[in-house]
Amino acid sequence: MESIQTVVSLGGRLTNKSLVESQVGRVLADAKQLSVSFGPLEVVKQVDLTVRKGEVVSIIGPSGSGKSTFLRCFNYLQPPASGSLTIDGEVIVGSGRKPTNSDLLRLRRKVGMCFQSFNLFPHLTAVENIDLAQVSALGRSKAEARQRSMELLKRVGLEAKADTKPARCSGGQQQRIAIARALALDPEMMLFDEPTSALDPELGHEVLAVMRELAGSGMTMIIVTHEMKFAENVADRIMFMADGKAIEVGEPKQVLRAPVQERTQKFLSMVFDR
Ligand code: ADP
Ligand code: MG
Repeated sequence: MESIQTVVSLGGRLTNKSLVESQVGRVLADAKQLSVSFGPLEVVKQVDLTVRKGEVVSIIGPSGSGKSTFLRCFNYLQPPASGSLTIDGEVIVGSGRKPTNSDLLRLRRKVGMCFQSFNLFPHLTAVENIDLAQVSALGRSKAEARQRSMELLKRVGLEAKADTKPARCSGGQQQRIAIARALALDPEMMLFDEPTSALDPELGHEVLAVMRELAGSGMTMIIVTHEMKFAENVADRIMFMADGKAIEVGEPKQVLRAPVQERTQKFLSMVFDR
């Protein structure tokens, strides 16, 4: 059993929710000393991150600091070179064996991901994009899948676009469809890699609104973002990365407004002095 103290320490967002939800606060993702190398270049260096159910963690930091590479480890799009990773109690890295294909299928149903580029199938309509994996990965019937897809399109405010192909949707709409597609597999947790950075501010805003709603509903999320205001308001914790290392991790207000580390201070002064 998780103690009440653990739940309360997660911050304001969770304390509103029912503490009797016995699963709240259990560890969903646990990365320890994760490292990733490309050839001789180590780009993620012994990074730790533990994420509990319902928590939202934002990763910020300069370009090239290893944020995307670290994030991609959580659904094994990027196999780490060393360290350990446990997702929902299952050892993904560190057991001394590589995950099998069926391990990976299970993992990717549990851990959904949204990218900067939306990666929708251009020849399928919005609703068909969302149907697809439900049938192929979950074995839902077409009718069941369609019903779930329509619910999700409604949730992201795009019911009216169901029969429209991605090219005829705005970037913000495409990203919302991509979020709905990821949610269709009923993931335990979602990864976002700069989901708004390809979008005009106004379109980014509608995507952030969907993500805020998701966070409010208790979705566990790791979000790489440059949207500092969003991170401050929505995240329970912020991790600042630079040069492949986790330099500073803490509550948003502390990391963003009173950073302890010089490297964090330097990065934030460049971000906020624009
Ligand atoms: P960020 O997301 O913080 O901008 P990345 O994780 O994308 O950083 O990249 C970290 C470093 O790893 C960069 O120096 C980048 O050039 C390098 N890198 C990323 N992916 C690859 C790859 N597939 N092969 C070689 N180097 C890579
Ligand atoms: Mg990146």
